Amino acid sequence: MSADFRTASLSQLTGQDEFIQRHIGPDAEQAQTMLQALGLASIDELVRKTVPAGIRLDGRLALNGPRTEAEALAELRAIAGKNKLFKTYIGMGYHDTHVPNVILRNVLENPGWYTAYTPYQPEIAQGRLEALLNFQQMIMDLTGMEMANASMLDEGTAAAEAMAMCARQNKKNRSTTFFVDADTHPQTLAVIRTRAEHFDIEVVTGSADELASTECFGALLQYPGSTGAVRDLTDIIAQAHDNKTLVTVATDLMGLMLLKSPGSMGADVVVGTNQRFGIPMGFGGPHAGFFAFREAFKRSAPGRIIGVSVDTKGKPALRMAMQTREQHIRREKANSNICTSQVLLAVMSVFYAIYHGPEGLKRIAERIHRLAALVSEGLSAKGFIVVHDSYFDTITVDMGSAKKQEGIYQAALIHEINLRKVDETRLGISLNETTTLDDVSRLLNVFCAGDHALDLEAMDAELAAQGTPGIPASLKRTDAVLTHPVFNSYHSETEMLRYVKRLESRDVALNHSMIPLGSCTMKLNATAEMIPVTWPQFGKLHPFAPLEQTQGYQALFEELQNLLKACTGYDAISLQPNAGSQGEYAGLVAIKKYFESKGDTERDICLIPASAHGTNPASAQMVGMKVVVTACDSKGNVDLADLQAKIDTFGERIACIMVTYPSTHGVFEEGITQLCDMIHAVGGQVYIDGANLNALVGLAAPGQFGGDVSHLNLHKTFCIPHGGGGPGMGPIGVGAHLAPFLPGHPISAVPGTNPANGTISAAPWGSASILPISWMYIKMMGAEGMRKATEIAILNANYVAKRLGDHYPILYKGSEGFVAHECLLDLRPLKEASTITEEDIAKRLMDFGFHAPTMSFPVPGTLMIEPTESESKAELDRFCDAMIAIRREIAQVESGELNADQSPLRHAPHTQDDVLTDNWERPYNRDTAARPASWLKIHKVWPSVNRIDNVYGDRNLICSCPSPEAYTEG
Ligand SMILES: *Cc1c(COP(=O)(O)O)cnc(C)c1O
Repeated sequence: MSADFRTASLSQLTGQDEFIQRHIGPDAEQAQTMLQALGLASIDELVRKTVPAGIRLDGRLALNGPRTEAEALAELRAIAGKNKLFKTYIGMGYHDTHVPNVILRNVLENPGWYTAYTPYQPEIAQGRLEALLNFQQMIMDLTGMEMANASMLDEGTAAAEAMAMCARQNKKNRSTTFFVDADTHPQTLAVIRTRAEHFDIEVVTGSADELASTECFGALLQYPGSTGAVRDLTDIIAQAHDNKTLVTVATDLMGLMLLKSPGSMGADVVVGTNQRFGIPMGFGGPHAGFFAFREAFKRSAPGRIIGVSVDTKGKPALRMAMQTREQHIRREKANSNICTSQVLLAVMSVFYAIYHGPEGLKRIAERIHRLAALVSEGLSAKGFIVVHDSYFDTITVDMGSAKKQEGIYQAALIHEINLRKVDETRLGISLNETTTLDDVSRLLNVFCAGDHALDLEAMDAELAAQGTPGIPASLKRTDAVLTHPVFNSYHSETEMLRYVKRLESRDVALNHSMIPLGSCTMKLNATAEMIPVTWPQFGKLHPFAPLEQTQGYQALFEELQNLLKACTGYDAISLQPNAGSQGEYAGLVAIKKYFESKGDTERDICLIPASAHGTNPASAQMVGMKVVVTACDSKGNVDLADLQAKIDTFGERIACIMVTYPSTHGVFEEGITQLCDMIHAVGGQVYIDGANLNALVGLAAPGQFGGDVSHLNLHKTFCIPHGGGGPGMGPIGVGAHLAPFLPGHPISAVPGTNPANGTISAAPWGSASILPISWMYIKMMGAEGMRKATEIAILNANYVAKRLGDHYPILYKGSEGFVAHECLLDLRPLKEASTITEEDIAKRLMDFGFHAPTMSFPVPGTLMIEPTESESKAELDRFCDAMIAIRREIAQVESGELNADQSPLRHAPHTQDDVLTDNWERPYNRDTAARPASWLKIHKVWPSVNRIDNVYGDRNLICSCPSPEAYTEG
């Protein structure tokens, strides 16, 4: 490696491939040592012996680069500079906001928060679990509902999930009609319509007054309406209940600071988005959708719910409630296919509420309302027709003609102001937290040919005397909200900073140690990749801003699509799906539409191998396909004989197969090309789940070895951080024949798509503002780096498999004895011999400072380890040393030297309370308990609770913040 600097060329001195070396953990020397341990001469030999020859790419990826960090940032800055930041009053669920700086820097820009994983190991995730419990409490308080989940992907999907849940839940009304308020955000309606189409639900729209006379199982009402109207829904909902119709209300969190809650009006479900609680608009996302519901629906609700349980000492402790509902267990009976959701954004918004407190939020809401009232009064005074008498933040003006509407719309644009065109004659104006009195004055000037000549300060004084002029007395919120101490204790920045830090320090994230989660690809999320996310040129754009203002984003999308095409071998990419699950759904919809276009309408079967992730069958049932499970053989491969038998049975009823490649069993199946051929031979389509793309990029391309469509989890292979359980992005790549069926959007046309294909996400390009992360990654790696990352990911996995293979059986290997980029440890024999379970091992790893690998997926009684390319040999060795030390402890139990129930394995994880006790009475010492390896004497994250009792929490379901005393009693 060491170049002779005196003779190096300038380009060598520039360190053009420096980022590759930073992203990849092992240097050349470490890689060589690992190859030697595996008995291999070179990486090429490893690749030859793992990746089947039939699928291997011969050329290099069609990518430029690599770029240095500085070059890539400069290039992206130029692209971002093409986005224009206008004052935007479009509303429709997206509003500019001030991200409190203490949250911006210490949460959104802090790897301690953004690199965490979904809290499946709750003892080392109490920080974000507490934040999420606070989020649920905030949503319950503001919506007036009994329960809330811990986030949805966006408002549109939350509404579609509400419809699906009401269909499941409403046993008393057999109607297949769903009613949607005509004054609903059009993107919400589009997402609902798409979902309904595949569930055989008919959607009708009408004014809320028409609900009573519509026979339907469920309805969605928007409050305040999309055009701003605020009305009391109490009687409408009561009437609907008389008709056995369940009612979902889509609402606005800020408005609910002033408005009577939907819960108090009788709503069954309440949905919306948290965006305006301190999350940048980001051209559509990511934000957290929310979902609140009656307690009676708790077993039927979609998404994750955080609940309070107790640990082995009886101390309150948090974890995901009803984890057995998680999709890989419920599979096709799952409530929804949502896996990755929006944890980081849920956390940010509740911190916003905690920082401002109920009084601060109320002040912000009152101020927005006052500004709206000024606009309303000002326009009325000038003779404009303001449509709604009652409103919160949105004023709709009827201009009387399209010509007049266009005139004002264009005049606004000249002043760098975006208004909403509601329909042919009306204009919409939604005000937000960042709006000032000057802004209102400028707005009025646009309507008044440059000079409104109103005394706004005098008007303000008059309006102040009226309190909330746009909200009728009967609709004013009178109950106290956010009364829990957590919302009333951290209003100084010092207190806030310490609360955020206190929670962060309870959690293990990638800033502490490797997180070897199989199938989840917890690799480096480089700082240079993250920096652009918080540039205003990406953050402050409204998703429905005019195309001329979003040229930077358009350029970014086009380039990223090309980069992803080059990486996957597909012909077209849709950037709309907000997670892998949504990509699966979008891909299956495309397959359905493709068959429909050919008049081939009898295909209703989706074949899924037993090793599949639970989202696969859950997605299949969302598009009305029937799931047929195909077997795996003893080597973990899809059993091609069984597959042939299924093909013989179902023939041309087969729509597709969904297969993960390399499989979740951690092997490159040699039969993949044959499998694809077999499905194609009966006219079916091949969906390749791209979650394991980290084992493929640069070596093999799913679009070339037989895939018709794949989703790409950008939060796995392409470096978007997991955020503690979201955000993510799940774009899909498709072959040319499926390209005409990619999702469209009703408001901002997505180039090359037809709105009739349906809409998967609320925003046209999903969570657009995190796409720069993947763009930066691919640019800085280039063809050479992308390939090398894959090779080292496979090398690292094989090195770990080799070191651990002497101590734990590796369940599956390829024909030459190597694994792919992950491996499964089979713990069942050990459990048989010692009663020590995979859970004991997972909890004991916490004492060593590690997050456990994926547990019991896809095979019960196993751990799935995926080290990724970003971990150095030293870190891999540390992890292996921990696993080997644990194996020795198991051996002590096996030999009878140690009783299982008295072993450190069973007592794990150990807390400070455990080891600081005055009467230590265990057969092992305190150092063994809490510092079983040398590195723990230098740095340790203490699990803040003992092992959590999941069953207790599910029997006594509490999903709101317990009183503070509850924490001290235990
Ligand atoms: C992660 C994963 C998914 C689901 O992706 P999300 O982005 O979490 O929705 C699907 N399949 C496999 C194999 C996965 O590992």
